[in-house]
Amino acid sequence: MIKITDLSKEFSGVKVLEHLDLEINEGDVVALIGASGAGKSTFLRSINYLETADRGQLEIDDFKVDFSNITKQEILELRRQTGMVFQQFNLFERRTALENVMEGLIQVKKMSKPEAQKIAEDELNKVGLTDRQSYYPKFLSGGQKQRVGIARAMAMKPKLLLLDEPTSALDPELVGEVQEVIIQAAKNKQTMVLVSHEMDFVFNVATKVLFLEKGKIIESGTPKEVFYAPKNPRTREFLSRHI
Ligand code: ATP
Ligand code: MG
Repeated sequence: MIKITDLSKEFSGVKVLEHLDLEINEGDVVALIGASGAGKSTFLRSINYLETADRGQLEIDDFKVDFSNITKQEILELRRQTGMVFQQFNLFERRTALENVMEGLIQVKKMSKPEAQKIAEDELNKVGLTDRQSYYPKFLSGGQKQRVGIARAMAMKPKLLLLDEPTSALDPELVGEVQEVIIQAAKNKQTMVLVSHEMDFVFNVATKVLFLEKGKIIESGTPKEVFYAPKNPRTREFLSRHI
């Protein structure tokens, strides 16, 4: 069980996240939707401590942190338990696909090289990139790069995978292959929080949809509830422009 309580963040006096609470069960795929500037990325980044929230707590099973008072040790543990997939992939350009996936296993999980390599090969195989493992990122397509990004995050066996618009930097014809990998991870019960503007995809993959506006969750429910019968007029208006 993952629990986020009272997550709040301001940027120079402007409230970007306001007292957000969220409970996530194992295997849930939570999709965060909302307009540009609503706070979606800030929410994901705060969970992983890439952004420092002003207040809030996170519980992942027995592991508990208070963001306003977090230790270095806890940040390391948080990074072990959560994985992040970025819109712009954020691969290490000077490392091959395989080395990109091995990096965290060696640095964060302190595995031996052969141990890390075995897991990395396995994860690259799962995303269909066995034949590309020795390629440097600049020789990979956007879709392949993002599949490496996902393999890298999944290799860490995160209890929570965070994905921030994982397909929005891709050419349209490459979106499907990356969505397919995420759908597969969802079928394998990987717990995730996902930000996406692709409503068809959200509808298909999510178990729960949250609509965020100005740093507040103003609607939440199953995809059917939120898409077919939105309660809040703001949600209705947003969906009418995005479906
Ligand atoms: P998008 O759909 O465009 O990615 P978003 O919902 O992810 O939007 P955020 O990136 O979380 O939105 O930004 C929320 C608000 O916080 C915006 O008003 C943004 O300008 C502001 N913001 C985000 N990062 C910073 C920062 N580092 N410094 C100051 N303001 C920031
Ligand atoms: Mg964003």
